[in-house]
Formats: sequence, C-alpha cells, structure tokens
Amino acid sequence: MSLDHYVNTLGPYLKQRFGERVQKVSVFADVTCPNRDGSKGIGGCTFCNNKSFFPNDFSPASVATQLAENIPRLKAKTGAGKFLAYFQAYSNTYGDLERLKQMYLDAIQHDAVVGLCIGTRPDCIPDVLLAVLVDIQQQGYEVWLELGLQSAHDETLALINRGHTMADYRDAVTRARQLGLKVCTHLIVGLPGESKIHVLDSWQQVLDAGVDGVKWHPLHVVKGTQLARQLTQGDYICIGQGEYVDTLAEVLRRTPDHVIVHRVMSAVSRKALLLGPHWTENRGEVMKALLQQLAATAKPHPVSERLDAR
Ligand code: SF4
Repeated sequence: MSLDHYVNTLGPYLKQRFGERVQKVSVFADVTCPNRDGSKGIGGCTFCNNKSFFPNDFSPASVATQLAENIPRLKAKTGAGKFLAYFQAYSNTYGDLERLKQMYLDAIQHDAVVGLCIGTRPDCIPDVLLAVLVDIQQQGYEVWLELGLQSAHDETLALINRGHTMADYRDAVTRARQLGLKVCTHLIVGLPGESKIHVLDSWQQVLDAGVDGVKWHPLHVVKGTQLARQLTQGDYICIGQGEYVDTLAEVLRRTPDHVIVHRVMSAVSRKALLLGPHWTENRGEVMKALLQQLAATAKPHPVSERLDAR
C-alpha cells in the first residue's frame, strides 16, 4: 500500500483540483532572513547552512527567466503540465514588500503556473503581503503559505536559535487562515533535546492552532553550522532511521483527513555537505520501512476519504 492509503497527500490533492499532474518548480528570490541579517540574529538557526541549497556565488535570474528555463525541463522529466511556483529558500515574505509582491505576480504570469507556495518564518508575515496572496488566490490560483516552525516548544526554539516563538506561529496561522489562506507547517524530527513525545506534542499543538498541510523533515547536520560543531564535540547525536520511522508512523496515524501531507522525508541536495544522518540519503529504504510500520500499526482510510481514489 502507498502513503495515500493512510493520509491524504499533495499529489492526489492537486490532481483532483486541476485534473492533471501538478509539480512544484523552485523559484529563488534574492531574499534573506531576519535571523541572519541582524534584525533578529546574525548566526541563523543552529542547523542552517544555505550553501546546502546554493553555491557561494549564486545570484538568481529574474523570476520569469527561472520559470522559462526550468518549467520545460521539469515538463520533460516528470510529465507534469501545470506547476506551483515554490519560493523556497530563506524568508520569502521578508524584505522590500513591493519587490516581493511583484515577484509573486511575475510568477503567475507564466501560462503553466497554477499557484504559489511561499516559504517563510512565522515572525515576518506582513498583512499587506497576506492581502496580495488572498487576491491571487481569489483569481483561482492555488496558494500555500509554508511556515517553518520546526518545534512547538519554546525551549527547543531557543536552543536551536530560531529567533521566534510558538506564539509568533499561532499569530501568523490565525491571521492567514482567517483570510482563507492555506497554511503548510514544517516540522523537524530529531531536534536537540527532543524525543518522540516532544514531536507528538508539537503536532497536537499545530493541529490545535489549525493547519491545512504539513511537511516533515529529519534534522540534517551539514558542514559549517553550529550543529555540526555540536556533533563533532559529542554534544548532539543524529536521530536513527528506526526512531524517525517510528515517530513518523505515529504522527501520520494522528493526521486528520483534511490535513494534506506535503512531505514525510527530505534529503540534503548537496550531499558533500552532509555530516549525518547518512540514512537520509536513501529515501527509498526509509519509505519502505515507513510503509511497513504503517501496515503493521495503522488502519488504511476508507476509499471514500482517499483523494487518490476519487
Ligand atoms: S529561518 Fe530559515 S533561512 Fe533563516 S536561519 Fe533559520 S533555517 Fe536559515
């Protein structure tokens, strides 16, 4: 059985809405993050090294150029005919507001773009940009606000130097959802000082705050970060595959049908930077173990509640 037998996932959700396969296409905006530019902090989160996304000398082309270059390549590779422009790295609601607004509008100009995913932090969500996203959504585009929370525990957020709190997250989610925007929350399994109990509690707090989608990630340790130093000094131990799978199976069992699961696993794109855990390089094995665990412990959803069966 596939993951869709247990939870509703993004692929079938988008296929049902648009009648064909929809793929995300990454758009790199030249933005930064308040936890790196000094307004909240300068070191960033203890696990963050954006070189794991970008080379040193990376300087993005315009949104229109990126989409014009990447969409035909992704069409050929995946067979998808429609795309969500995914503003992924750093905080894509932080910076010059007119410029950000224009980038969102530029993205939806491409014929094959049917929506936007805006990745950002919970503490920099200005109302004026929410209004822009609502307007885009009301034109019929699919819009997701992707909020990096990582943990609902303020002690953990302080330990990893996030520079925001759970209260910031609740405020952002409330404002966005009151306007009718969909929120996808990013959570990490394997954070320093956290166990399965913390993760399950974070998930419950996120559900209580109201959420429409979720992305799960294992904590990666990449070179050039404070977490890498903690790993080398023996102050942090990477999460094992068994613990990750066990925790994920439990959170998936606790995921209601209305919540769309966008991701249950992620890998570092620049493998040379990864210090651990190395099992994350083998996504196929992790997914196999997760599905085995679900088969042994979870009840598949009735067909009527499965988006992939409609
Ligand atoms: S909020 Fe995101 S971009 Fe900013 S330091 Fe943390 S992980 Fe890096």
